[in-house]
Amino acid sequence: MTVPVFRFAPSPNGHLHLGHAYSALLNQQMARDAGGRLLLRMEDIDRERCTPELEQTMQEDLHWIGFDWEKPVRRQSEHFPVYSEALDRLIDMELVYPAFLSRGEIKHEIENLGGNGGWPRDPDGALLYPPTDRQLSNAERERRIGEGQPFSWRLNMDRALEHIGEPLFWTELAPENRAVETAPRVWGDVIIARKDMPTSYHLSVVIDDALQGITHVVRGKDLFEATSVHRLLQRLFDIEPPLYHHHALILDHDGEKLSKSRKDTALRSLRQEGVTCQEIHAMIGL
Ligand code: GLU
Repeated sequence: MTVPVFRFAPSPNGHLHLGHAYSALLNQQMARDAGGRLLLRMEDIDRERCTPELEQTMQEDLHWIGFDWEKPVRRQSEHFPVYSEALDRLIDMELVYPAFLSRGEIKHEIENLGGNGGWPRDPDGALLYPPTDRQLSNAERERRIGEGQPFSWRLNMDRALEHIGEPLFWTELAPENRAVETAPRVWGDVIIARKDMPTSYHLSVVIDDALQGITHVVRGKDLFEATSVHRLLQRLFDIEPPLYHHHALILDHDGEKLSKSRKDTALRSLRQEGVTCQEIHAMIGL
């Protein structure tokens, strides 16, 4: 029988808050109940916003709340060549294309296409990428790249879905192992590799969950829609999908999602104010 493997995968670009504590400790509880392993992964591909100091602080905060992970920690910043290789596979399959438009140009292009106002947005609120760069000839792409124009790699969503040719599902653990049909189209031509790096959150998370043999992905509901992209990439790479549990989020008094920029719910601040680890567990109901 295979041993279940869980992971907590924060980005060290700020301080952990009560919502992270809940996610980490829920992973720990589920891993213990299942007799499984528990890993910690630092999703630090953004080299400007993620720092070793913030990672250090995160690890201290996690120790303090009693989160106990298997060493070593996997740091995504140490594995760019692995993601680059995965990106190359998608390039070879002609499922991604170089996308040159800046944020301002995307808006402008959408206006040109007459899409003012009614243009669809993805679940994160970003405008879907217009079809402009999809239609460029290879010669034009090469010319622009040769000129040094910055570009990201975007998935040609229509082509990727055509390639797969059947509906895709993932298994959501609660309630009762239900099959969820993916809806990746809501993301449009999603970014697979950002302008300054050979990867993105979506690509790295899929590759790492596979390489680390993760069997259970337990994370917040705010990532529910992203799972459609992950499931699609898993299928394109022939990766066996893990099981998913998207848990409820801890909200503030106004019903808003907690954010790393808020001080009052940061584990750091709570600890400095004299809140105990037991009180943190009580606050999040674990
Ligand atoms: N790194 C992501 C975050 O901090 C979580 C990724 C995941 O759990 O899949 O929001």
